[in-house]
Amino acid sequence: MLKENYAQVLNNIKTACEKAGRQVSEVTLIAVGKTKPVSMLAEVYEVGARDFGENKVQELTEKQEQLPKDIRWHMIGHLQRNKVKYLIGKTALIHSVDSFRLAEEISRQAVKEQVTVDILVEVNIAGEESKFGTTGEEATALVEQIAVLPGVHIRGLMTIAPFVENPEENRLYFRKMKELSVDIMKKNIDNVDMDVLSMGMTGDYMVAIEEGATMVRVGTGIFGERNYSI
Ligand SMILES: *Cc1c(COP(=O)(O)O)cnc(C)c1O
Repeated sequence: MLKENYAQVLNNIKTACEKAGRQVSEVTLIAVGKTKPVSMLAEVYEVGARDFGENKVQELTEKQEQLPKDIRWHMIGHLQRNKVKYLIGKTALIHSVDSFRLAEEISRQAVKEQVTVDILVEVNIAGEESKFGTTGEEATALVEQIAVLPGVHIRGLMTIAPFVENPEENRLYFRKMKELSVDIMKKNIDNVDMDVLSMGMTGDYMVAIEEGATMVRVGTGIFGERNYSI
């Protein structure tokens, strides 16, 4: 089941890339295994998955200890400053940096551990009240502010688009994210790269790819529905 799901998602990515005239190698699939057991993650690892996403620090570190060491772990959920220290050195990328104070704490801990932490700045592109992230208007200023911090390296932007029935409704937001990323890239800010654009989830990743996503975060489409009641 999971293997078929995973293969299906890869195939959809290929289709979206073909439609957009992009190379499949430009897009990384992140398998989001939150709430799912390690055994299920291991199953998709076996068929080639190497990028896994989690939204809780403890879940990420616990799963990391039990799974092969060549997995790249992505922190995609809201991160509290007091949890940052447990994450340093364990992630390939932290997608959810939504404030200067959080970036400062990552910087402080990274310097202490003598590592550089790759991060994305999270943008609440639709301005939803329920979502974390900086606004589209403030994103550039936040990137400039974070860029001077030691021990952190901005690799791009991330967004969680609204939950919609029809993914076409999010196309405009994905397009805005791409434009924002290009605008920031053109500023040539020291210590800032804009090579990553993390957007698109189970419901809308094909549209996100058509609009320029380089990382898509897919949970339900691979592992099935999550049950939060148990
Ligand atoms: C849970 C989650 C996903 C995956 O969501 P699905 O709709 O299950 O694909 C992607 N990104 C973030 C930030 C998440 O928290």
